[in-house]
Amino acid sequence: MDTKALIESGEKHLMRTYGRLPLAFSRGEGTWVWDTDGKRYLDFVTGLAVTSLGHAHPEITRVIREQAGQILHSSNLYWIESQVRLAEALTANSFADKVFFCNSGAEANEGALKLARKYAKTHYGAHKTKIISLRGSFHGRTLATLTATGQDKYHRGYEPLPADFGYADREDSAALEEILDDRTAAFFVEPVLGEGGVYPVSKEFMANARKICSKRGILLVFDEIQCGMGRSGFLFAHEAGGVEPDVMTLAKALANGVPIGAVLARGEAAETFAPGDHAATFGGNFLATAVGCKVMEIMTAEGFLSDVREKSAWFAGELGALARSAGITGQVRGMGFMLGLPVGAAGPRIVDFCLREGLLINCIGGETLRFLPPLTVSRAELEEALGILAKALTVCPVS
Ligand SMILES: *Cc1c(COP(=O)(O)O)cnc(C)c1O
Repeated sequence: MDTKALIESGEKHLMRTYGRLPLAFSRGEGTWVWDTDGKRYLDFVTGLAVTSLGHAHPEITRVIREQAGQILHSSNLYWIESQVRLAEALTANSFADKVFFCNSGAEANEGALKLARKYAKTHYGAHKTKIISLRGSFHGRTLATLTATGQDKYHRGYEPLPADFGYADREDSAALEEILDDRTAAFFVEPVLGEGGVYPVSKEFMANARKICSKRGILLVFDEIQCGMGRSGFLFAHEAGGVEPDVMTLAKALANGVPIGAVLARGEAAETFAPGDHAATFGGNFLATAVGCKVMEIMTAEGFLSDVREKSAWFAGELGALARSAGITGQVRGMGFMLGLPVGAAGPRIVDFCLREGLLINCIGGETLRFLPPLTVSRAELEEALGILAKALTVCPVS
């Protein structure tokens, strides 16, 4: 199907949930993707921090082929070896003791919400039901997770929203003392806010949140759906700040593009669910978890994450220098290969220029350029992207 016919049919047959660019891809390799007209692009969007090991990674492709030829799905009525192996790998490399698998980020956060409500009820009583999250956060699109999402624009039209959710301001430690009260079951935090504009949460704020949560029997839940899985230069972004959660959610890059989600928990919290309390038909199936095991193997191999830290520090430095020479006053934000550059109203035009020059980036909130290259990106590819961006900043001046 040519691109024009594809778009016409898509407009007719798909619900209009997305504002899409007039572009479709047909294949990818490493950092590169090719559109249906054969033009190639450097992919610094990676399907929104999903294909973190690049496109068509040979080892991932081999696992998918082999697993597809054996068995894809059996149901959680039975034990699944790759599911157990992925849970072993995740717990061996994190604070957590146990894992529940599902199929997406929203579903992982939904599971964490249910876990928190049930845990609080069981251990403290029926009054402890409140869920607090940060203003500007993003936690998903189901009714409960969009309510936890601290941005009004996602709520509008879906009221009445589930009850007993509240919001706290990022970096306001004094206010947190009041908001996280004895009725609070859980505090949800993205260690680096993604859709909210690429804002890392400070060590001090996290340490204070940890202290209050421990004191008042509140579960501290880290949503690492976007910032986790090596994206920050650490396997999990919270490792950089040294504060551990009670619960953590993962999805996006966990199986490099095969749908998967996970809820990790430690100690008593990990024992919350009893058989029948929670479930997912596809959750942790052979294919997704076999790929997840391979992703974990690659990311925990000697030198992988230190290489990400090194390359991303260099890239962030170059990006900052480029921004300064273009007269941009805002600072580069983020961690590892999750970087944002505030450029004001010029954002969408810069994205459009880069697209035409063969570089995919996106713009959040209409004014922050977001860079999410694959963690496997080469120095030469980073240099090529910087070259395109330099050109974009001369053509689309940032006032
Ligand atoms: C993408 C994202 C989600 C939602 O994940 P889906 O797989 O789209 O449901 C939740 N939290 C964060 C931080 C995300 O970036």
